[in-house]
Amino acid sequence: MKASRLASAIFASALGLGSVAALADVPAPQDIPFNGTLKINVDATDLAHRVFRVHETVPAQAGPLTLLYPQWLPGNHSPTGPIDKLAGLVVKANGKVIPWKRDPLNVYAFHVDVPQGANEVQVEFQFLSAQDVRQGRVVMTPEMLNLQWNTVSLYPAGHVASQIKAETTVTFPAGWQYGSALEMASRNGDTVTFKPIDYDDLVDSPIFAGKYFKRVDLDPGAKTPVFLNIVADDPKFLEIKPDQLKMHQNLVQQMYKLYGAHHYNHYDFLFSLSDKMSGIGLEHHRSSENGVGTSYFTEWDKNASMRDLLSHEFNHSWDGKYRRGADLSTPSFNVPMQDSLLWVYEGQTQFWGYVMAARSGLWKQDQAIDMLANVAATYDRGRPGLQQWRNIQDTTNDPIIAMRRPLPYRNFQMSEDYYSGGQMIWLDVDGKLRDLTGDKRSIDDFAKAFFGVKNGEWDVNTYTFEDVVKTLNDIAPYDWSSYLRERLDGHGPLIGGFEANGWKLVYNDKPTDVAKAMETRAGGANLTYSLGVSMGKAGDVVDVLWDGPAFKAGLSPGMKVIAVNGKEYSSDAIKDAVTAAAKDKNQPVELLVKNFDEYKTLRIDYHDGLKYPHLERIEGKADRLSELLKAR
Ligand SMILES: [Zn+2]
Repeated sequence: MKASRLASAIFASALGLGSVAALADVPAPQDIPFNGTLKINVDATDLAHRVFRVHETVPAQAGPLTLLYPQWLPGNHSPTGPIDKLAGLVVKANGKVIPWKRDPLNVYAFHVDVPQGANEVQVEFQFLSAQDVRQGRVVMTPEMLNLQWNTVSLYPAGHVASQIKAETTVTFPAGWQYGSALEMASRNGDTVTFKPIDYDDLVDSPIFAGKYFKRVDLDPGAKTPVFLNIVADDPKFLEIKPDQLKMHQNLVQQMYKLYGAHHYNHYDFLFSLSDKMSGIGLEHHRSSENGVGTSYFTEWDKNASMRDLLSHEFNHSWDGKYRRGADLSTPSFNVPMQDSLLWVYEGQTQFWGYVMAARSGLWKQDQAIDMLANVAATYDRGRPGLQQWRNIQDTTNDPIIAMRRPLPYRNFQMSEDYYSGGQMIWLDVDGKLRDLTGDKRSIDDFAKAFFGVKNGEWDVNTYTFEDVVKTLNDIAPYDWSSYLRERLDGHGPLIGGFEANGWKLVYNDKPTDVAKAMETRAGGANLTYSLGVSMGKAGDVVDVLWDGPAFKAGLSPGMKVIAVNGKEYSSDAIKDAVTAAAKDKNQPVELLVKNFDEYKTLRIDYHDGLKYPHLERIEGKADRLSELLKAR
């Protein structure tokens, strides 16, 4: 909690003179005990209107009080607390309504004056779930809900979040069951009271509840239990076949073999299978929020590309929640975060998410290799922005810049490329560690040394860039600082890790099974590495590769392709046209496109045929990639 000093420094230095007076009204978090306990009572029964009703008691004393709505959200790494959905705020003291005033320079802060004689204030408000996805995440449906404590609580400014105790009660819709890392203190019908917990851990402990619920033991008989808590739109989606269960149980054991330590006293995967509630992948220390479509278990073969979700979010308990970049670890939810080390937090988690999906059997080894081929192609030819202007290090600012809003030219703008670009860097590091040590050491050793320490402890353990370099040096002495900086600050490609591990990236005219399934799911056509365009449903242009053939012909995202070579658009028609143009160099791919209310014909002069990425073995070189992906 040394970061409370950091917070004051940020507030003091970041503000111009004019704003100091106004923001001085929001006290910086102090690492001192908070007297009393927040009592937060949530009524989650209004399914018809999708409204969470909050009644909260905040211990207070006479004088000015500032209540904060969490703004900077861990896991989002950004100031995205959904304050636009807070409504109906009423504050009372001594049984009377008292006025509140929102800070004009910090719209997440509400100022009140606590009258003489009052030792607490009563706060009421509603958190309104998005009614449809255009408004944000839908978090309440007739069958399930996703309660995140940062959305249904205010907390007093002036204290670090870990110094504030909170006691919570939730009333669920009749007969619903729930999963959470929170521990139950008592239950009265559908109303559950949870054991008091520090406010920062409360925000880290969301709830999934549902009408159709199943709790699956992923580590039977273990002293530290791990459960998969599933809610679904319909009971039929809760069916899990024995081999599917076994793979998810394997995931837990493979993680333990990798890290040799864990940082929780129990762990609960929260997992929604829904076409109504919005999807999610959000890590917490003792749980994770995971949301996918209904058919995760029931159409197993079609959903391979989603099966690194649980391994990714579980890995964050080690990388991200327990060990966290020092500049990302903040004393409260209203102090700005800095994201400079997300290429470790998310990049290495992306790496292990893939590897652990393979080691646990959630992916067959060839599925993992096909998934990696897609990533390899992205950082070979799919990110002109990386080559032309923006490096991976700069993309760590993107949660704050873009906040996951859709982008017009994603491939040129770059976005959260520290995920998959970071994954490529860590694969490269693995190859280098193996080179330096004659295959005696690998990235497994780094993972264990860096994240697998102090078994059972779960206070945040921060690190810096220098700590990463030191741990690598302890495993295999080398100029790791320059090695990492060249990759983080340079302009790619970032795919050296494949060659180091005995594989190379090639392109041919057949998609991998995984790529074909992803194309089918999206209902489009992925021609990124041929025409330089990715098509969505019904001819919608989703993405156009900057400076690629389609871009040069005048195509842009947002247009609609009506016809290809004079025939009605279909994903097959556009692929056939690419193949025809490869046979006849005088035949362009001719698209009739609609742009707003204009129709025009674009001719794409491209004759190299369909191109899909694949990984191929380099004969005579050790196959370290298969070794990496093999169960331990
Ligand atoms: Zn992540």
